[in-house]
Order: sequence, then C-alpha cells, then structure tokens
Amino acid sequence: MSEHIVTKYVYTFSPDHEPVAKVGQGEVVTLETLDCFSNQIQSEEDELTSVDFSKVNPATGPVYVEGAEPGDYLVVDILDVQVAAQGIGVNGPGMGPLQDKVTNETKLIHVEDGKVKFNDMEFPMNPMIGVIGVAPKEGEIPCGMPGAHGGNLDNKLIKTGARLYFPVHVEGALFQCGDLHAAMGDGEISGAGLEVAGTVKVKFDVVKGGAGDRPVLETEDKWYTIATAEEFNDALKLATSDMQDLLVENYGWDKTEAAIYMSLQGDAEVCQACVPSELDLVLRFGVPKRADKPLIKSDSEKVSV
Ligand code: CA
Ligand code: CA
Repeated sequence: MSEHIVTKYVYTFSPDHEPVAKVGQGEVVTLETLDCFSNQIQSEEDELTSVDFSKVNPATGPVYVEGAEPGDYLVVDILDVQVAAQGIGVNGPGMGPLQDKVTNETKLIHVEDGKVKFNDMEFPMNPMIGVIGVAPKEGEIPCGMPGAHGGNLDNKLIKTGARLYFPVHVEGALFQCGDLHAAMGDGEISGAGLEVAGTVKVKFDVVKGGAGDRPVLETEDKWYTIATAEEFNDALKLATSDMQDLLVENYGWDKTEAAIYMSLQGDAEVCQACVPSELDLVLRFGVPKRADKPLIKSDSEKVSV
C-alpha cells in the first residue's frame, strides 16, 4: 500500500475539480497545506490590505476515495496534524464583535515546543483543521464558507485523533482540507486563528448508505453533530434535531426521551461565531459516547456486532 502525498490547492469545494489522488479505503494520505492567506504574509510589514483575496482559504486536494458513493458517509480519521513554527494572528476585516475597535495590522506569532509565544506570555498550542469537507452535489462553494458539505467549519475539536463522517454527494466524495490553526478558541471571535501552513495525515473509510444531511464528529469521548446557519436559533435547531434522530435510531428511545436526555448530558457549543460577518455560524452538539451503542457504525463494525 503506497503513501500518497498531495500538494495541489483549490479555492472552492466543487464536483468539477479534477482529483489529484485516487486512494482506497484504509490508505494513508498526507496533505500539505498552505496557511489561509496562501502564505502571502511573511512579515509584520505585510498588512492584510496587501493580500490577494482571490487566494484566501486554499484547500489541498481534492482526493477521490474509491467506493464512496452518494448516500454514503465518508469516514475521515485525522491521524496527525503538524503545524509550522511561525503563524499569523490578525483581525479579519468586517469580522467579529470587535471589528470597529481594531486595525489591519498582522502579528507574526511563533510556536516552540508546543507552546504559543504571545507578547509576554505563552500557552499550549491546540493544532486543528479549519477547512475540511467533501464536494457538494453541484455548484462551487468557496473554501471560506461553511455548510452541510463541511468547508470552513472552524471546529477546534477537528484535530489529531478525531474522526469525521461527511455525507457523500458525488462519486469518490472529493475530500479536501486546509486552513490549519496552531491555536484557536471557540467562536474564533476575530475571524482568524493562529493561521499556519502544515501537514495533515488522514485515512479514509466508507459507511455504505444511510448518511444524514450534515457532518458528524466523533472524538475520544463524545459524538457531535455539526450544523451551520445564518442565525443561531436555526443552527441550534439543526444540530439538536440531528442528534435527536441519532439517539432515537441507536438507543431505541422516543424523541421526547432523547430530548430530555440531551438537556441533561448534551452540550451545545460554538465552533465559528465571528459575527457579525459574512460567515454563517457553526455550532456543534455533543453527547458522551457509550461503548455499547455507537451512533454511527462503520461497515466493519456492523459485521462484528
Ligand atoms: Ca477558517
Ligand atoms: Ca483560518
């Protein structure tokens, strides 16, 4: 089994992009990613206004996964996320609650021994993937936009060890990712994390048929539904009703019991909320995992049960 290394970039998610690699299930793929400015900012003299915005938010790929067909889930195991030793902190123009109180200056920020050095303090990095997903059924979605296909989810739990399930819309799924952050807090309130180049190592699997409408995230101890919408209420409704459906289907409870349980043990959390901005809100809703009843079973798990 060969290891694939992918170094081509696109700026949209689209069924029309030519895949740059074709891989089988279980094969390991390494994607080399640029930072969200396509590495255009190299010093603190390079202000945001000098950036060519047609080259913002590149994603590496797409990768065609054999056996992935519409109606399936593409299963993506994040095996490793490595980030560069230097990144950029900025306030996104027209983004976030503090946009009227900041300037366009850029700040080079260094990472050393797993620690982010910021002014007179240091804190642990939390490397994560901002942009990740699969092609929509039709059309082109800029990589900067989040949606049911994934895209700019800016979910800090999408990191080494996480597993994602994306509904497949086109044959081969056409997976791509980029926009790594060495650090980011929930909400990403200025519209940018610690923006860095890096590499992502992933492995793919497929769940045949029965996929839901939106991505699902599995961490070491929780299941999360992920939803995006312009308004908080709408995103919350989508994320919670997706979780309710999964619980009803897998725990054998009715909708009322599921909702009561979700209010007791479920957490509604913010991924991306740099509002006001052009970006939709991204929320996640999580419940603890139970070993006896996974909310999504891979085909191999189904056979062994
Ligand atoms: Ca992002
Ligand atoms: Ca970013």
